Amino acid sequence: SAKVRGKNRYESYDATYDELVSRRSDLEQELRGAVERGELMLVYQPIATVAEGYVAGVEALLRWHHPRLGSVSPAEFIPVAEEAGLIHELGTFVVHEACHQLSRWIADGHDLWLSINASVRELHTPEYAHRVVEVLRTHRVPAEKLVIEVTEHAMALDVDQLKDRLSALREAGVKVALDDFGSGYSSLNLLRTLPVDILKIDHALLDAEDTRSTDPLADIVVELGKRLQLDVIAEGVVTPGQRDLLHGCGCRYAQGELFGWPLPAERVEALFGEQIGGSPRIPAQSVGSV
Ligand code: C2E
Ligand code: MG
Ligand code: MG
Ligand code: MG
Repeated sequence: SAKVRGKNRYESYDATYDELVSRRSDLEQELRGAVERGELMLVYQPIATVAEGYVAGVEALLRWHHPRLGSVSPAEFIPVAEEAGLIHELGTFVVHEACHQLSRWIADGHDLWLSINASVRELHTPEYAHRVVEVLRTHRVPAEKLVIEVTEHAMALDVDQLKDRLSALREAGVKVALDDFGSGYSSLNLLRTLPVDILKIDHALLDAEDTRSTDPLADIVVELGKRLQLDVIAEGVVTPGQRDLLHGCGCRYAQGELFGWPLPAERVEALFGEQIGGSPRIPAQSVGSV
């Protein structure tokens, strides 16, 4: 009967909801102490020059391997950490670990920058910029070698406050990147409002097809970055066709499967000085890329 079906529907909804709630509380509980137990590590994804295919920078991405839960994606555990107030502990681990690694690479004579992702909850803390500068000093890393990536979710917080935080970082010499540009609703307004140095184009803005020789959307966004005198990095570049397209519109940097997935430090290191992702098959049309 309808009544029974209704009841079943209710029960199945209920079970799913319970599962979500218990997964979340499980994650939250296990995330506490994950840093001390050594369950977190950083992997580094190469960011290459589009024209030559050389590693110009790396993005540090957090990984969590739990003995029972296995590998949990940052897309799942970062929001949990934010809501549970654990993001500061994770963020501190990331800044220390990444800057320590960068100092070793610099000592080995490698010339590259390091990008880390910061949650707006972390930037909420008034002393955030000061703490980052302290870490840089501890590891003797020049501030201009560090990039802090922030996403559009920044909009969820007080924009004036965020502006102040980002300005403090930039005054200290740290660079700021607007991550996932074009994946949300308020990108353009945010770009006008926030003090940033780098624009990261979300993979969603790149045409998955690589059969076309031009992509008006990619072209316009790259041009926008240039007009604002920002460095532009295309994210999620997978095919040589996409790389050629980006080269054609004068996009300077790219990252994605074509150039390599995020790797442990010793494995990304092997790519430094090598040509990765191949060379563009078509010449750049635009002049004066930033
Ligand atoms: P994001 O900062 O935009 O990082 C790029 C994501 O795209 C990474 O996922 C990376 O592995 C993935 N990716 C790289 N190349 C490709 C490609 O060719 N195709 C596709 N489809 N994806 C590609 P990941 O590592 O799972 O991280 C997801 C998100 O979690 C990050 O997005 C970032 O917002 C957040 N996150 C990661 N690590 C941290 C961290 O240390 N702190 C904070 N606050 N957030 C982090
Ligand atoms: Mg990022
Ligand atoms: Mg991104
Ligand atoms: Mg993303």
